[in-house]
Amino acid sequence: MSFILCENLVKVYKVANLEVLALQGLDLQVQAGEMVGMIGSSGSGKSTLLSILGGLDRPSAGRCMVNDKDLLKISDRELTRYRREQVGFVWQQGARNLVHYLSALHNIELPMMLAGKSGRSTRKRALDLLDTVGLAQRKDHKMSALSGGEQQRVAIAVALANAPPLLLADEPTGELDTRTAQAIYQALRDIRERFGVTILIVSHDRNIALHVDRVVGIQDGKVATETTAAMQGEANLMLDSAGRLQIPKALREKYGIGAKVTLEQTDDGLVIKKL
Ligand code: ADP
Ligand code: MG
Repeated sequence: MSFILCENLVKVYKVANLEVLALQGLDLQVQAGEMVGMIGSSGSGKSTLLSILGGLDRPSAGRCMVNDKDLLKISDRELTRYRREQVGFVWQQGARNLVHYLSALHNIELPMMLAGKSGRSTRKRALDLLDTVGLAQRKDHKMSALSGGEQQRVAIAVALANAPPLLLADEPTGELDTRTAQAIYQALRDIRERFGVTILIVSHDRNIALHVDRVVGIQDGKVATETTAAMQGEANLMLDSAGRLQIPKALREKYGIGAKVTLEQTDDGLVIKKL
């Protein structure tokens, strides 16, 4: 079964005597280990969906299953536990979740200590996470000594400290320039490769299609469109600091492992073509 399954999902907010239909019959399926982007104009219901999937809010009707848990029927106690064990959050202002006078390493260890863990295994996981988001050399830096993009990468590591299988990010690159945003997407991809987490990223940025397996368009509280990089017929590839090229999953599947391809340098960047 899908890791996330929403069917005809409805969320109604009651404000005074008014009812706001934030989600009106949303259908969505996400497989374990997928990295999915969600775009849609302001007010389309993206944050509402994330807060339901994150157990911060309850659905009003329909079906919403995450990792075999039924978020409509789950008890309050189970929901609290779900929120703590199953989900990591990254917000637009990631720095808000960080303790400024602590080092990057200690920021990541903190949620593990609060969950009652300590010792060598917490240190090991914190270092592993820092390495995966590309900040191994910054482990002893306090937050104030890190750039906005670096702080956001620490925030990603903090969200994953207690090893939730699901990572939800609400406009994680909203306040960052394009280059810094690319480093965030790279960190999220590396996290997915290393830890196999399922990742949902809300964004205003259509370019997110270049960084995720597929993009889901949300409109009026419903899924309106779905696109993958392969459907666009091209892939903008990004070269990381180690000289590796990341090929979007959809293209890997389209071409097949072992396919012969060429890289061409164009004004738009490197373009991959099948021979
Ligand atoms: P997005 O994140 O796509 O901008 P939201 O999910 O925040 O959209 O909002 C969807 C709709 O639900 C909007 O009309 C918004 O005003 C309404 N809404 C969201 N949260 C609440 C709330 N806590 N109380 C009342 N209305 C809300
Ligand atoms: Mg929002």
